[in-house]
Amino acid sequence: MHPFRWVPADGGRHATADIRLAGAYAVGESITALCRRSVTVARGTELAWLWPTCAECNREAHVLVEAGVSQ
Ligand SMILES: [Zn+2]
Repeated sequence: MHPFRWVPADGGRHATADIRLAGAYAVGESITALCRRSVTVARGTELAWLWPTCAECNREAHVLVEAGVSQ
């Protein structure tokens, strides 16, 4: 399991290492994404998951996964 999760926030899919209990984020909660932006969690509707992936989060997530694989 990787130490981050994808969350729909601010019109995009961001990844965050700001892991909460049971991995649940409250709608409207502020979290820090891997792109270092402070974003507001949106409702995880089907449409929200179709939002564009944040390029910076995606890059950071790749770094984390590759680091995990090489361990
Ligand atoms: Zn992001």
